[in-house]
Amino acid sequence: MTATATRVLVLNSGSSSVKYQLLDMADGRRLAVGLVERIGEENSRLVHTPLATGGEKRETEGAIADHETALKAVAAELSADGLGLDSPQLAAIGHRVVHGGLRFTEPTVIDDAVLKEIERLVPVAPLHNPANITGIRTAQALRPDLPQIAVFDTAFHSTMPEYAARYAIDVETADAHRVRRYGFHGTSHAYVSRRTAALLGQDPAEVNVIVLHLGNGASASAVAGGRCVDTSMGLTPLEGLVMGTRSGDIDPAVTFHLKRVAGMSADEIDELLNKKSGLLGLCGDNDMREIRRRIDEGDERAALAFDIYIHRLKKYIGAYYAVLGRVDAVVFTAGVGENAAPVREAAVAGLEELGLAVDAGLNAVRSDEPRLISPEYARVAVAVVPTDEELEIAQQTYALVSA
Ligand code: AMP
Repeated sequence: MTATATRVLVLNSGSSSVKYQLLDMADGRRLAVGLVERIGEENSRLVHTPLATGGEKRETEGAIADHETALKAVAAELSADGLGLDSPQLAAIGHRVVHGGLRFTEPTVIDDAVLKEIERLVPVAPLHNPANITGIRTAQALRPDLPQIAVFDTAFHSTMPEYAARYAIDVETADAHRVRRYGFHGTSHAYVSRRTAALLGQDPAEVNVIVLHLGNGASASAVAGGRCVDTSMGLTPLEGLVMGTRSGDIDPAVTFHLKRVAGMSADEIDELLNKKSGLLGLCGDNDMREIRRRIDEGDERAALAFDIYIHRLKKYIGAYYAVLGRVDAVVFTAGVGENAAPVREAAVAGLEELGLAVDAGLNAVRSDEPRLISPEYARVAVAVVPTDEELEIAQQTYALVSA
């Protein structure tokens, strides 16, 4: 790495999409952001915004056959703004990798052995790790000389004590198949819990925080002194909160029942619980904006879906309050957490005895900035902190290559 190399390209490769951001770590500035979607289809789309030049958003439609073609198209867009992947200012590429298993608890420089290990984790992350691997291989082919860093979604949760990470099932069976709770959204929980401590003007080591990451996927975590001690997602992202399309917690016997009584296959049940459940399954919509609109019109199904969503959320706030013993802040983040004031209000309603309250005026304010929404008298801070997983990945990547 040259002394002037301060840029990091962050890649988040999904099965049919690649999201990317180019950041300059000298000042944390975003130089370009973009997205390629519907890879492998006829109507793929690349949306690129060259923030560094202040240029207009550029959209290109047309077939993009695979990840390699997608990444080459991204490289061409970046080159057009003088930000190409061949730039000596590029220090590293940071890859979001969903599952790091037990082995990867820190950001890791990717070599052949690391890539093999990420491949070995495919059975526990069949939807995510293969796409991440494709993204890594493609980026390596484009810049074989550049450090490629993997930042794992599971890593922040690796500090969970064994009693929180283990399921109460036969130990030999669990260990033989790596069945345990790993947790996800870790990059977001790490960033938001740290940022909340800063908002309170305190050292992360001194504060206990409950983080509620409420996006289309949703998870809660209990963070004690900067370390995760429990989180709601488990072996896969299916466990825990009610999500846009996932059921969250469910009696596991529901799956046997559906197999035996409804004759459904494992894949069909997997699809039902991951893609057709949650808010979508309950009321036909998974977008909280639409659900609120329907509630305002008196729609009872939407109202029940909302109540089920809030009930689960409240149970996790209570559970993590008990796990932490003392709570300094409850913080809302991600699409729903950052934008849906009624969700925040309902989630802490009735929890005054726990020192939790929301100020209606502060809660109604729309802002992209981290902010407190609890009244001054409240014992526990309630906050909204916009998440920034890309910045966190870039920071972790840059810290590793500039060390
Ligand atoms: P994410 O996965 O973090 O991108 O969050 C996406 C979800 O955020 C969407 O499915 C919506 O349910 C929710 N969302 C986004 N904007 C708003 C808003 N203004 N009000 C309520 N919910 C929102």
